[in-house]
Amino acid sequence: KANRKFHPQDTVVQIGGTKIGGGHFAVIAGPCSVESEEQICLVANEVKASGASLLRGGAFKPRTSPYSFQGMRAEGLELLRHARAKTGMPIVTEIMNTEHIPLFEDVDLIQVGARNMQNFELLKAVGRMGKPVLLKRGLSATLEEFVMSAEYIMAEGCEQVILCERGIRTFENSMRNTLDISAVPMLKHMSHLPVVIDPSHAAGINWMVEPLAKAAVAAGADGLMIEVHNDPARAKCDGAQSLTCPQFDALMQDISREAVFF
Ligand code: PEP
Ligand code: MN
Repeated sequence: KANRKFHPQDTVVQIGGTKIGGGHFAVIAGPCSVESEEQICLVANEVKASGASLLRGGAFKPRTSPYSFQGMRAEGLELLRHARAKTGMPIVTEIMNTEHIPLFEDVDLIQVGARNMQNFELLKAVGRMGKPVLLKRGLSATLEEFVMSAEYIMAEGCEQVILCERGIRTFENSMRNTLDISAVPMLKHMSHLPVVIDPSHAAGINWMVEPLAKAAVAAGADGLMIEVHNDPARAKCDGAQSLTCPQFDALMQDISREAVFF
């Protein structure tokens, strides 16, 4: 189902009024985690004004340490709904557990994170939700494994899957991960699904987000996912890689000069 061979035409994923794929480019932006009503609403308004079409924000966070901030959980989802009501932006947030499915019923785009890319029972259950899914590449997953994980979701009847390259583990450790830019043309060769790049988690460093985002556009990605925070120094998660709202605005202006997508 995910294979280009049996489906030569590009898939267009539609989330509310936003389309991704088949020549449609869209930007997903927002904080790593929802932290408060003020924070998510402020960032939502700002990224919308800069041209983002979808709002991201983690409520259930897959943290390396159990002692790190784990997200606002159900309350975080409620605040995302509130930000959606205020801005009209569709919301994207990560699901980690099949038990949480009822909480995610009105989320517009369901994110499956890198750490769960091969959680096959979760993939199957998410594939039955009847919603578009954003699947992130596992930390050490090959492109073949990545596409097969999309296949798990699609085998359950979901045709609206977006592939997200977010950097992989390599021997290089000056960055958090290594952005695999080759994944864009190769995934598009292997599959008809839209490909989005997350330069924030790939770099782990805020000043590197801009050049990587531009590389993604140049390589033919169908969209970007970018972490933006109103006060990165005080962010509860991933502050080092988060852009401020003005930095995000400047990036959006740069990109729109180089590519026509609005
Ligand atoms: C995220 O998008 O906040 C996230 C946790 O990403 P990843 O699963 O790619 O690490
Ligand atoms: Mn993050």
